[in-house]
Amino acid sequence: MPKATSNATAEQRAVAGKRLRNAVQRGAVSKPARCESCGQETTLQAHHFDYTLPYDVLWLCMSCHKRIHRIRREEQMSNEAAGLNASNSYQGWTDPDIDE
Ligand SMILES: [Zn+2]
Ligand SMILES: [Zn+2]
Repeated sequence: MPKATSNATAEQRAVAGKRLRNAVQRGAVSKPARCESCGQETTLQAHHFDYTLPYDVLWLCMSCHKRIHRIRREEQMSNEAAGLNASNSYQGWTDPDIDE
């Protein structure tokens, strides 16, 4: 087995998504009505910071969620090129996929 990278496996993502959905159904995690980035009232997706913390999510509309993943990829590339560390607190984001 190759050593684990910072990328979560499909299984880890599936488990985290399932646990989160269960928690929302139980009422243990409250899902807001509005996107936590732009405030739009629409269907929200959970963005995981870390799949070992399934309830530590940011609720985003689809366009903010896509944008965040795009920004993160661009930051990673430019940071690698410049040899800098990301200054924002979201550098632990690992999920390349859109979660429900
Ligand atoms: Zn939004
Ligand atoms: Zn995400």
